[in-house]
Amino acid sequence: MIIGLTGGIGSGKTAAANYFSSAHDIHVVDADLKSRVVVEPGKPALQHIVDRFGAEILLEDGQLNRAALRQQVFSDPQQRVWLEQLLHPLIREEIISDLHSAASPYALLVSPLLVESGQHRLTSRVIVVDVPEELQLARTATRDQVSEQQVRAIMQVQAQREARLRQAHDVIVNDRDLAHLHQQVDALHQQYLAMLQEKEI
Ligand code: ATP
Repeated sequence: MIIGLTGGIGSGKTAAANYFSSAHDIHVVDADLKSRVVVEPGKPALQHIVDRFGAEILLEDGQLNRAALRQQVFSDPQQRVWLEQLLHPLIREEIISDLHSAASPYALLVSPLLVESGQHRLTSRVIVVDVPEELQLARTATRDQVSEQQVRAIMQVQAQREARLRQAHDVIVNDRDLAHLHQQVDALHQQYLAMLQEKEI
Protein backbone atom coordinates (compact mmCIF):
# COMPACT_ATOMS: atom_id res chain seq x y z
CA MET A 1 0.00 0.00 0.00
CA ILE A 2 1.22 3.49 -0.87
CA ILE A 3 0.31 6.65 1.01
CA GLY A 4 0.94 10.01 -0.65
CA LEU A 5 2.21 12.90 1.46
CA THR A 6 2.01 16.44 0.15
CA GLY A 7 1.86 20.04 1.29
CA GLY A 8 3.11 23.45 0.24
CA ILE A 9 6.70 24.64 0.39
CA GLY A 10 8.02 24.55 3.93
CA SER A 11 4.87 22.96 5.31
CA GLY A 12 6.81 20.17 7.03
CA LYS A 13 6.67 17.28 4.52
CA THR A 14 10.30 16.36 5.10
CA ALA A 15 9.95 16.64 8.88
CA ALA A 16 6.89 14.36 8.81
CA ALA A 17 8.41 11.84 6.36
CA ASN A 18 11.68 11.64 8.30
CA TYR A 19 9.73 10.75 11.40
CA PHE A 20 7.63 8.06 9.62
CA SER A 21 10.97 6.59 8.59
CA SER A 22 12.99 6.95 11.81
CA ALA A 23 10.27 6.11 14.34
CA HIS A 24 8.31 3.53 12.35
CA ASP A 25 10.74 2.24 9.71
CA ILE A 26 8.45 3.24 6.88
CA HIS A 27 9.98 3.24 3.40
CA VAL A 28 9.95 6.79 2.00
CA VAL A 29 10.21 7.71 -1.67
CA ASP A 30 10.93 11.38 -2.39
CA ALA A 31 9.55 12.52 -5.76
CA ASP A 32 11.73 15.64 -5.68
CA LEU A 33 14.89 13.52 -5.52
CA LYS A 34 13.66 11.36 -8.38
CA SER A 35 13.08 14.46 -10.50
CA ARG A 36 16.79 15.19 -10.09
CA VAL A 37 17.90 11.66 -10.90
CA VAL A 38 16.24 11.62 -14.33
CA VAL A 39 18.20 14.67 -15.50
CA GLU A 40 21.62 13.62 -14.24
CA PRO A 41 24.50 13.84 -16.75
CA GLY A 42 24.45 10.84 -19.07
CA LYS A 43 20.67 10.37 -18.80
CA PRO A 44 18.77 10.69 -22.12
CA ALA A 45 16.40 13.34 -20.74
CA LEU A 46 19.28 15.76 -20.20
CA GLN A 47 20.33 15.41 -23.83
CA HIS A 48 16.73 16.14 -24.97
CA ILE A 49 16.73 19.28 -22.82
CA VAL A 50 20.05 20.45 -24.26
CA ASP A 51 18.78 19.78 -27.81
CA ARG A 52 15.82 22.03 -27.11
CA PHE A 53 17.26 24.82 -24.97
CA GLY A 54 20.93 24.80 -25.99
CA ALA A 55 24.06 24.04 -24.00
CA GLU A 56 23.54 27.30 -22.05
CA ILE A 57 21.10 25.31 -19.93
CA LEU A 58 24.04 23.41 -18.40
CA LEU A 59 26.31 24.45 -15.56
CA GLU A 60 30.08 24.37 -16.12
CA ASP A 61 30.35 20.89 -14.61
CA GLY A 62 27.75 19.49 -17.05
CA GLN A 63 24.91 19.36 -14.54
CA LEU A 64 21.53 20.82 -15.44
CA ASN A 65 21.14 24.43 -14.39
CA ARG A 66 17.74 23.95 -12.78
CA ALA A 67 17.28 27.63 -11.99
CA ALA A 68 17.90 28.59 -15.64
CA LEU A 69 15.48 25.91 -16.87
CA ARG A 70 12.84 27.00 -14.37
CA GLN A 71 13.18 30.54 -15.70
CA GLN A 72 12.80 29.34 -19.32
CA VAL A 73 9.59 27.44 -18.66
CA PHE A 74 8.13 29.77 -16.04
CA SER A 75 6.85 32.29 -18.55
CA ASP A 76 6.24 29.90 -21.46
CA PRO A 77 3.41 27.38 -21.00
CA GLN A 78 4.30 25.54 -24.22
CA GLN A 79 7.83 24.87 -23.04
CA ARG A 80 6.49 23.83 -19.66
CA VAL A 81 4.11 21.30 -21.20
CA TRP A 82 6.95 19.92 -23.36
CA LEU A 83 9.17 19.53 -20.30
CA GLU A 84 6.44 17.92 -18.22
CA GLN A 85 5.66 15.44 -20.99
CA LEU A 86 9.33 14.50 -21.14
CA LEU A 87 9.98 14.23 -17.40
CA HIS A 88 6.76 13.06 -15.74
CA PRO A 89 6.78 9.52 -17.20
CA LEU A 90 10.48 9.11 -16.35
CA ILE A 91 9.99 10.34 -12.77
CA ARG A 92 7.01 8.02 -12.44
CA GLU A 93 9.13 5.03 -13.51
CA GLU A 94 11.84 5.90 -10.97
CA ILE A 95 9.20 6.24 -8.24
CA ILE A 96 7.54 2.93 -9.10
CA SER A 97 10.79 0.98 -9.15
CA ASP A 98 11.79 2.43 -5.76
CA LEU A 99 8.34 1.69 -4.28
CA HIS A 100 8.73 -1.92 -5.39
CA SER A 101 11.71 -2.30 -3.07
CA ALA A 102 9.71 -1.30 0.03
CA ALA A 103 9.76 -3.84 2.84
CA SER A 104 7.60 -1.88 5.31
CA PRO A 105 3.84 -2.58 5.70
CA TYR A 106 3.11 0.51 3.62
CA ALA A 107 5.28 3.05 1.82
CA LEU A 108 5.16 6.82 1.71
CA LEU A 109 5.43 8.84 -1.51
CA VAL A 110 6.42 12.42 -0.66
CA SER A 111 5.75 14.95 -3.39
CA PRO A 112 5.14 18.70 -3.36
CA LEU A 113 3.16 18.29 -6.59
CA LEU A 114 1.46 14.99 -5.79
CA VAL A 115 -1.89 15.95 -7.28
CA GLU A 116 -0.73 18.39 -9.96
CA SER A 117 1.67 15.77 -11.41
CA GLY A 118 -0.88 12.93 -11.29
CA GLN A 119 1.39 10.98 -8.92
CA HIS A 120 -1.52 10.67 -6.48
CA ARG A 121 -2.90 8.00 -8.81
CA LEU A 122 -0.15 5.71 -7.51
CA THR A 123 -1.46 6.07 -3.96
CA SER A 124 -4.46 4.77 -2.04
CA ARG A 125 -4.60 7.65 0.44
CA VAL A 126 -3.32 11.21 0.58
CA ILE A 127 -1.97 13.01 3.64
CA VAL A 128 -1.78 16.80 3.42
CA VAL A 129 0.55 18.62 5.80
CA ASP A 130 -1.22 21.89 6.43
CA VAL A 131 0.18 24.99 8.01
CA PRO A 132 -1.08 28.57 8.30
CA GLU A 133 0.46 30.67 5.53
CA GLU A 134 2.25 33.09 7.85
CA LEU A 135 4.06 30.22 9.58
CA GLN A 136 4.86 28.60 6.22
CA LEU A 137 6.40 31.87 5.01
CA ALA A 138 8.42 32.43 8.15
CA ARG A 139 9.78 28.85 8.44
CA THR A 140 10.74 28.62 4.76
CA ALA A 141 12.38 32.05 4.65
CA THR A 142 14.45 31.12 7.72
CA ARG A 143 15.41 27.68 6.37
CA ASP A 144 16.34 28.83 2.84
CA GLN A 145 17.71 32.26 3.77
CA VAL A 146 15.43 33.92 1.21
CA SER A 147 12.87 36.69 1.42
CA GLU A 148 9.23 36.05 2.26
CA GLN A 149 8.45 37.60 -1.14
CA GLN A 150 10.37 34.81 -2.93
CA VAL A 151 8.52 32.18 -0.93
CA ARG A 152 5.21 33.85 -1.84
CA ALA A 153 6.10 33.56 -5.57
CA ILE A 154 6.58 29.79 -5.20
CA MET A 155 3.36 29.47 -3.22
CA GLN A 156 1.51 31.11 -6.13
CA VAL A 157 2.57 28.33 -8.50
CA GLN A 158 1.73 25.47 -6.15
CA ALA A 159 -1.82 24.32 -5.58
CA GLN A 160 -3.70 26.65 -3.32
CA ARG A 161 -4.20 25.56 0.23
CA GLU A 162 -7.94 24.95 -0.05
CA ALA A 163 -7.62 22.96 -3.29
CA ARG A 164 -4.93 20.81 -1.72
CA LEU A 165 -6.96 20.15 1.41
CA ARG A 166 -9.86 18.94 -0.73
CA GLN A 167 -7.64 16.05 -1.92
CA ALA A 168 -6.77 14.95 1.61
CA HIS A 169 -7.93 11.77 3.28
CA ASP A 170 -5.83 12.71 6.33
CA VAL A 171 -4.49 16.08 7.44
CA ILE A 172 -1.46 16.80 9.62
CA VAL A 173 -1.79 20.27 11.13
CA ASN A 174 1.78 21.46 11.62
CA ASP A 175 1.13 24.69 13.51
CA ARG A 176 2.87 23.81 16.75
CA ASP A 177 6.19 22.23 17.76
CA LEU A 178 7.79 19.10 16.31
CA ALA A 179 6.51 16.96 19.20
CA HIS A 180 2.98 17.82 18.11
CA LEU A 181 3.83 16.86 14.51
CA HIS A 182 5.29 13.55 15.71
CA GLN A 183 2.18 12.73 17.77
CA GLN A 184 0.04 13.11 14.66
CA VAL A 185 2.37 10.86 12.66
CA ASP A 186 2.22 8.22 15.43
CA ALA A 187 -1.59 8.31 15.34
CA LEU A 188 -1.72 8.01 11.54
CA HIS A 189 0.76 5.13 11.60
CA GLN A 190 -1.44 3.23 14.07
CA GLN A 191 -4.50 4.03 11.96
CA TYR A 192 -2.85 2.67 8.79
CA LEU A 193 -1.71 -0.53 10.50
CA ALA A 194 -5.26 -1.07 11.78
CA MET A 195 -6.73 -0.35 8.35
CA LEU A 196 -4.31 -2.79 6.73
CA GLN A 197 -5.26 -5.46 9.22
CA GLU A 198 -8.94 -4.88 8.48
CA LYS A 199 -8.11 -4.82 4.76
CA GLU A 200 -9.73 -1.39 4.51
CA ILE A 201 -6.87 -0.12 2.35
P1 ATP B 1 9.91 21.87 0.92
O1 ATP B 1 8.72 21.51 0.13
O2 ATP B 1 10.29 23.27 0.70
O3 ATP B 1 11.06 20.91 0.79
P2 ATP B 1 8.93 20.73 3.42
O4 ATP B 1 7.44 20.70 3.31
O5 ATP B 1 9.68 19.46 3.26
O6 ATP B 1 9.49 21.87 2.51
P3 ATP B 1 10.34 20.98 5.96
O7 ATP B 1 11.69 21.18 5.35
O8 ATP B 1 10.03 19.70 6.62
O9 ATP B 1 9.20 21.35 4.89
O10 ATP B 1 10.04 22.16 7.00
C1 ATP B 1 10.35 23.52 6.70
C2 ATP B 1 11.19 24.14 7.82
O11 ATP B 1 10.36 24.27 8.98
C3 ATP B 1 12.37 23.27 8.21
O12 ATP B 1 13.44 24.10 8.58
C4 ATP B 1 11.83 22.49 9.42
O13 ATP B 1 12.87 22.11 10.30
C5 ATP B 1 10.90 23.51 10.05
N1 ATP B 1 9.75 22.88 10.74
C6 ATP B 1 8.90 21.96 10.23
N2 ATP B 1 7.95 21.65 11.14
C7 ATP B 1 8.21 22.39 12.24
C8 ATP B 1 7.58 22.51 13.52
N3 ATP B 1 6.48 21.83 13.86
N4 ATP B 1 8.16 23.36 14.42
C9 ATP B 1 9.25 24.07 14.08
N5 ATP B 1 9.89 24.02 12.90
C10 ATP B 1 9.38 23.18 11.99
